Amino acid sequence: MGKRAYNFNAGPAALPLEVLERAQAEFVEFQGTGMSIMEMSHRGAVYESVHNEAQERILKLLGQPSGYKTLFLQGGASTQFAMIPMNLLAAGRQAGYVMSGSWASKAAKEAKLIGDVYAAASTEGDKFTRMPAQDEIEIREDAAYVHITSNETIEGVQFAQYPDTGSVPLVADLSSDIFCRPLEIEKFGMIYAGAQKNLGPSGVTVVIAKEELLSAEAKHIPTVFRYSTHLSNNSLYNTPPSFSIYMVNETLRWIEEQGGLEGVEAKNRAKANLLYDTIDNSGGFYSGVAQAGSRSLMNVTFRLGSEELEKAFAKESEQQGFVGLKGHRSVGGLRASIYNAVPHESVAALVDFMGDFAKRNG
Ligand SMILES: *Cc1c(COP(=O)(O)O)cnc(C)c1O
Repeated sequence: MGKRAYNFNAGPAALPLEVLERAQAEFVEFQGTGMSIMEMSHRGAVYESVHNEAQERILKLLGQPSGYKTLFLQGGASTQFAMIPMNLLAAGRQAGYVMSGSWASKAAKEAKLIGDVYAAASTEGDKFTRMPAQDEIEIREDAAYVHITSNETIEGVQFAQYPDTGSVPLVADLSSDIFCRPLEIEKFGMIYAGAQKNLGPSGVTVVIAKEELLSAEAKHIPTVFRYSTHLSNNSLYNTPPSFSIYMVNETLRWIEEQGGLEGVEAKNRAKANLLYDTIDNSGGFYSGVAQAGSRSLMNVTFRLGSEELEKAFAKESEQQGFVGLKGHRSVGGLRASIYNAVPHESVAALVDFMGDFAKRNG
């Protein structure tokens, strides 16, 4: 095999090499069945045990919270932007959306198509360079839920501490930071994440929620869009993305092998510190986009003195084997996505390149 790229893609993103190799080893012949997992019925015992194992691993990583269920859905986090208000935002109720960046804006825009939405907070005045503090968030007592984006993948800002929404259910998009650190699931009514950043390949969306939120009857919406349909059918109402779920199960096994969520957090903090220290100690050659206290452990966004220099950085880094460092086209700059599966050595190599580039261009 050739050398693995230094993969800083924002999503789909790096997967653990161990997971890819395990999948390769059982790709053609799955557990003595004479076929691959992609070729077997999703109603058979072999597939179902993988499906159930993945759900069990998720709840185990969260400390077996009582009253929470896991669903595997399709259509990405973007479909959750619509399903959440369709199921949870009844006529006559309001939902609060914390406007913290590009993904929060997309979520709110979809919810407005369905129901009554208010901005519970906004950091747009600071160009989305920070997350709002607890006392900036307006929690209306009778709100159906308050929605936050745990990590803004494009701007590179992340909640260090989640807001307390009292009796109002907190609903959160964790697409780009699920399982990057321990998670107190009891603070949330519902969390959701497309798998392709921190959990596996694209194709499956993980929803973890209080059973009472998932079981609400929503007779006015099509069957396939109701959480209750997927809850009562163990996410097997229709054909699930079986290979993606298998890969999620293997990625979860890998997280367990890293020492669980505490283990991955320690590794993630070491990688993020290395990068942020390099930025902070560059004498102003590099500047971090996110404000202190909101810096993301997963997406490190930074700028150089001019767009010309940024272009040169993107180009030269590519030539040297670094992939995906260009910032999102909507904000420019540079971004290193350092999800769980990005090895420390990739970050160490990037830091070396950054030092060298600064020396040559400073
Ligand atoms: C990538 C991303 C999404 C979109 O996910 P899809 O699965 O492509 O729909 C939504 N929210 C956040 C925070 C993301 O990072």
